[in-house]
Amino acid sequence: MPNRPQPQFPELDSQPFWEGAKNGELRYQTCDDCKEVVFYPRAHCTKCGSGKTTWRTSKGTGTIYTYSVVRQNRSPAFADLGAYAVAYVDVDEGFRMLTNIVGVDDPTKQIKVGMKVKVEFEKQDSGEYPIPVFRPA
Ligand SMILES: [Zn+2]
Repeated sequence: MPNRPQPQFPELDSQPFWEGAKNGELRYQTCDDCKEVVFYPRAHCTKCGSGKTTWRTSKGTGTIYTYSVVRQNRSPAFADLGAYAVAYVDVDEGFRMLTNIVGVDDPTKQIKVGMKVKVEFEKQDSGEYPIPVFRPA
């Protein structure tokens, strides 16, 4: 199993996101005042500054906005991955998320901008919080 760094708690802004990940849910926030979608997790709306937000659960589907392939990473948490894809995914509920694309044999050839993807949660040896990644849908 992968051995990525784990979130450190207490961390008030992102803890609900990680508790969702533990339950197989990709969570995001919306503003109670102006309805803006807020992501990454934080204590206030990025459009109007309101501190009133509601946590929601995404269907977990989206589209690759852009990506890059990392061919080598010397960090112990990533060294065994070989070539892997880092991508921005436009999630269907309206937020863009930095993530990985998994489930392809050769990330240098099999990933395309505009590809439809679906979230999955990658269990980690390093702790109880899985990492949300996406695979071609
Ligand atoms: Zn707002």
